[in-house]
Amino acid sequence: MVKKIVLSLLVLLCAGSISSAFAEQVVVYSARNEHLIQPLFEAYTKETGVEVKFATGKSGPLMERLKSEGENTQADVLMTVDAGNLWQATQEGLLRPVDSKMLQTNIPSHLRDPENNWFGLSVRARTIVYSTERVKDGELTTYEALGDAEFKNRLCLRTSKKVYNQSLVGMMIAEHGEKRAEEIVSSWVANLATDPFSNDTKMMQAIEAGQCDVGIVNTYYFGRLQKKQPEIKLALFWPNQDGSGVHVNVSGAGVTKYAKNPAGAIKLIEWLSSEKAQNLYADGNMEYPVNPAVKPSKVVAAWGDFKGNLINVSRAGELQTDAIKLMDRAGYR
Ligand code: FE
Repeated sequence: MVKKIVLSLLVLLCAGSISSAFAEQVVVYSARNEHLIQPLFEAYTKETGVEVKFATGKSGPLMERLKSEGENTQADVLMTVDAGNLWQATQEGLLRPVDSKMLQTNIPSHLRDPENNWFGLSVRARTIVYSTERVKDGELTTYEALGDAEFKNRLCLRTSKKVYNQSLVGMMIAEHGEKRAEEIVSSWVANLATDPFSNDTKMMQAIEAGQCDVGIVNTYYFGRLQKKQPEIKLALFWPNQDGSGVHVNVSGAGVTKYAKNPAGAIKLIEWLSSEKAQNLYADGNMEYPVNPAVKPSKVVAAWGDFKGNLINVSRAGELQTDAIKLMDRAGYR
């Protein structure tokens, strides 16, 4: 009889522990695709027992959702791409500053917010892509030189509406000042072979098709195209290696202002920056780990080493409005 009671107690206890199998949960709003983040969160749960729930969507609508939910939001973490977007989230008061030694150690200072509202977790370079058939060795040097006469009618660009280009031009303003940056952008526009494209992949396909010879691209889009077409006659070039380096940007995350589990949110972001998670995070999208202790995947490493720009990526956000106006004045559509 006693045995039976003990047994049913055990059953009850087990049932109890199943219904609350996750003692803790963290909720993430992510502009990164499910296929990139799900394996990560599963690994995190396996290691820590903490459940990670997430909702995915485009960056703009996710931020709108956070804003309208206000203090009722379930989200503890916002994950998105581009320092321009992370900066925007901070401006709109959607994030809170985080004091974490581990994040400061794992992430180089120019790849996180100086005020600690967000942290880069993977790095992408926005660099030059070219036709290996029609661009000769030594022809390419810098972003600025894409405006030179020798590239007349040979340049293709993605639309200036995309935050990636707004960040690129923002960083050029940070480096050269507005006047010089405008001259450079105007010289690009003068060299365009055709109207700007809606995305990086279409722009590369135009180069492949012979519509133009050079363009500017985020490295992982090149990686995706190369994976589909290993024989593609395009290659990446690392510009400005004698100067300030290649334009780099991040995908990253921050703790939401009204997080219900801010401590859990910090732990998750810390884990994402750690050596064991960095490859899992960066390799899935053919990006570079943000943690300098971690090497990129073989595919990514094969594109070669480069010097990246060391100006804090948050400047891209600060100068976003100026960049948009500048591109408009320069006729970059
Ligand atoms: Fe992208």
